[in-house]
Amino acid sequence: MQYVSTRNKNQKCSAAQAIAQGLASDGGLLTPEVLPKLSPNGLSTMTDMSYQQRAVFVMGSYLDDFTASELSSFASKAYGKDKFDVKDVAPVRQVDESTYCLELWHGPTCAFKDMALQMLPHLLSAALVKNEEQKTVCILVATSGDTGKAALEGFRDVDKTRILVFYPKDGVSDIQKLQMRTQEGENVAVCAVEGNFDDAQTGVKKLFSDPELRETLAGRGFFFSSANSINWGRILPQIVYYVSAYCDLLREGRLQKGDPINICVPTGNFGNILSAYYAKQMGVPVNRLICASNQNNVLTDFIKTGVYDRNRPFYNTMSPSMDILISSNLERLLFEFTERDDEAVKGYMDALAAEGRYEVSEKVKKRLDRTFAAGFCGDQETQAMIAKMWKSHNYLIDTHTAVAFHVLEQYRAETGDQTPSLVVSTASPFKFCDNVLGALGVTELAQGLGIIDQLSQVTGVPAPAPLEALKGKAVRFDQVTDKAHMADQVLEILK
Ligand SMILES: *Cc1c(COP(=O)(O)O)cnc(C)c1O
Repeated sequence: MQYVSTRNKNQKCSAAQAIAQGLASDGGLLTPEVLPKLSPNGLSTMTDMSYQQRAVFVMGSYLDDFTASELSSFASKAYGKDKFDVKDVAPVRQVDESTYCLELWHGPTCAFKDMALQMLPHLLSAALVKNEEQKTVCILVATSGDTGKAALEGFRDVDKTRILVFYPKDGVSDIQKLQMRTQEGENVAVCAVEGNFDDAQTGVKKLFSDPELRETLAGRGFFFSSANSINWGRILPQIVYYVSAYCDLLREGRLQKGDPINICVPTGNFGNILSAYYAKQMGVPVNRLICASNQNNVLTDFIKTGVYDRNRPFYNTMSPSMDILISSNLERLLFEFTERDDEAVKGYMDALAAEGRYEVSEKVKKRLDRTFAAGFCGDQETQAMIAKMWKSHNYLIDTHTAVAFHVLEQYRAETGDQTPSLVVSTASPFKFCDNVLGALGVTELAQGLGIIDQLSQVTGVPAPAPLEALKGKAVRFDQVTDKAHMADQVLEILK
């Protein structure tokens, strides 16, 4: 199967090239030329499979230049017992009669980014071999928290790769900072940048486009690549868990073959919910995809009106991984909803770059209306939902997941839709202890890592082992650089 750019269908490449390249050279997103469909019995065939086998089955239909035995080996490495604390990898938990929760945070960094970033390094390093690339890839990441740690864990000690993460010195939580500074592995490096996330991100973008740096590093046998969520190798592993969740519901007898479900996803860059859309296109019977945002509700407005407008205030919220005004992966949905009209997509993206705004055609609006619903939720309602879930269901959820539960409740009240619904849970509550404890009415918060034990004591819920283990870990990386000297750090690390 070939991959095409969303801005030019004639620009084609193989899956291995798409994964190694990340972005198309015209700035578009690389997307499968045709979307594969499951066979009529595909879902039933998969019900008795393990998560790893389902991953091979689903991913194989998009990656014809990778063999089944390659994919099996990647899946067992990525989703093994040593990485995930539950055998099911992405378990579905029943919340009430018609509500289920898909827990995507049982991996090594306790956030859903692990689902893709445990797989991507294997896909990428095999892609490099297929492309006959001689150099070692150096993954550069600027992170506001979850992505950096998940990428470090994913790429740690993967052959022919190095990874270098820059985080804003004062822009991540104490736990997130410690998670990165104690990172283990021989091919990893972490460096703080003076300033905020924008400073780190701008700095990394500059590194990517510095020809002199590129040349020096090429001489040393390195080239740069990125692990952010526009890479097809991050979207694909996420399709798997939607298919898998439906199979689990079939296996448990909660659904009968063909029964529709709604899926409600806490959304930032639109990567996670886009994967749910692809699962629907493959044949998972999805009634409605519900897009849940926090106060940064640009997607809610877009889905309701067909106007995307980023000209609005930016809010720092309690669900920071969704604090985003440009949702890059929406471009892939526009490609599908315009019936792959690359000219139209390019027009929308040019308008977004120039004016920060675009309005889609009537046809696209109709499709949005038929497939999606959307809503948003402020910080107060987020905390109220955490308290409610804890009191009424004894279920502890994080701030991002709470946004999704709130939006689902809103949607049901507005529409009366009784379709069974799957809420996607994207982080362990122990990653956001302060706001979760606040929601439970605790006002005196413990210092530092003590807050993990405090949440555990208040709720009786054990903390995930990787967060518990932080206490015994030595800090390996305490470098700090200013924005102007990031290239020196890179040269120092990639000696
Ligand atoms: C990244 C992230 C999200 C947003 O996912 P997108 O794919 O960017 O929409 C939601 N919740 C958590 C905890 C995340 O880390």
